[in-house]
Amino acid sequence: MAVAVQEELNVYESAEARFETAAEMLGLEQGLYRYMKYPEREITVYIPVSLDSGQIAVFTGYRVLHSTVRGPGKGGIRFAPNVSLDEVRALAAWMTWKCAVVNVPFGGAKGGVICNPASLSKSELERVTRRYTASLSDWLGPERDIPAPDIGTNDQIMAWVMDTYSMHVRQATTAVVTGKPLDLGGSQGRKEATGRGLMLCCDRAIARLGIKCDGCRVIIQGFGNVGSEAARLMHEAGYKIIGAADIHGGLYNENGLDIPKLYDWVYTQRKPLPEFPGGGEKLSAQEVLFRPCDILVPAATENQITSQNAHRVDCKILCEGANGPTTSHADPIIEKKGIFVIPDILGNAGGVTVSYLEWVQDRQGFFWREREVNEHLQDVMEHAFDEVLRYAQTHRVNNRIAAYIVAIDRVARALKLRGFYA
Ligand code: NAD
Repeated sequence: MAVAVQEELNVYESAEARFETAAEMLGLEQGLYRYMKYPEREITVYIPVSLDSGQIAVFTGYRVLHSTVRGPGKGGIRFAPNVSLDEVRALAAWMTWKCAVVNVPFGGAKGGVICNPASLSKSELERVTRRYTASLSDWLGPERDIPAPDIGTNDQIMAWVMDTYSMHVRQATTAVVTGKPLDLGGSQGRKEATGRGLMLCCDRAIARLGIKCDGCRVIIQGFGNVGSEAARLMHEAGYKIIGAADIHGGLYNENGLDIPKLYDWVYTQRKPLPEFPGGGEKLSAQEVLFRPCDILVPAATENQITSQNAHRVDCKILCEGANGPTTSHADPIIEKKGIFVIPDILGNAGGVTVSYLEWVQDRQGFFWREREVNEHLQDVMEHAFDEVLRYAQTHRVNNRIAAYIVAIDRVARALKLRGFYA
């Protein structure tokens, strides 16, 4: 791969580039800039696990704590074959900015294990999770660093993290991790939270642009936790989902996809999304991004919209569900097209917002109804959306840089109040 392309696809470089621009626009003092630029801690663990075959495999895992300035570290654990330290580092920094954008009292962290969860049995997955958690148990904790699910991990894995940590500290500690099952201190509404947050942002954006919800054409790439829940909620609300894709490929249908049936096909019948009978035109998972629509929601993985293909994006609103779906090199192309961007650190922040509510409920030992959780979420998302747009206007920057400015400003203020220890 040419060096320039490699650089563009390095998500850490993408995260850095936006941080640098926003810090400069904000006139951030040099000392604060240096403090925020680097993570507080990076841990690499080698995880020996006995496989069902009796062989021992050693997996590599990471946990990066980017910042605890505004509160304990918060961020998901990713299980995927292409996890790298640079990726985890970028995702950890994004968590710091995201938590600050929605103003929840957390810093940023992220973890990952290089493995292919689809090729591991359930008991192998459990052993990987437990050994990874045990290796990190001194650094995790409800007041230190609180993991959550991300690509390749789910509520069962979070239950194993909670149990392993609890065995080490010798007390049941539900608040050490969020995204848990409801029977184990999970929160109502967490499963749908990221998708709901995306929809709340889209509702706000279409109101500004004068687009009606009924029949508003939406394409969603990724049909996992984020994409499928966004599709379900938006379909229910009257949006018309005309395209969807998962790792197996995409489907496009200008008359709209039957989302409840598609969900059943993928999640109950466990079939590949593009094989959905009568679904529509089959295309590749990437091609779905370039069909005309009102709202495009990349909710799969990083680096989907790049300097090579951004000119083909044909939407009015780009609402980022995934972390880092657009490279920093693609930003100016998207901006020139006049596309209204809801950047990842705002758009997908519904997940961490309800994770925060889960942590609050675990610590108070009193749980809310779904309606109450959703009301809090709506309040937080709408406020954050309006704040980002206000900063965009006052600083004359695009929405993405405005979101970074909101975040960096909040972290800087907390840092100044705390002062520097030693
Ligand atoms: P997931 O593992 O549940 O789902 C990922 C989906 O993307 C699957 O449908 C998969 O088939 C599809 N996919 C993977 N690679 C693809 C490709 N190259 N092209 C098309 N589809 C592809 O993961 P998730 O939790 O839904 O997370 C998706 C994204 O959202 C990630 O970037 C994650 O970091 C981000 N995110 C997740 C949450 C959360 O609450 N789960 C919160 C904030 C951000």
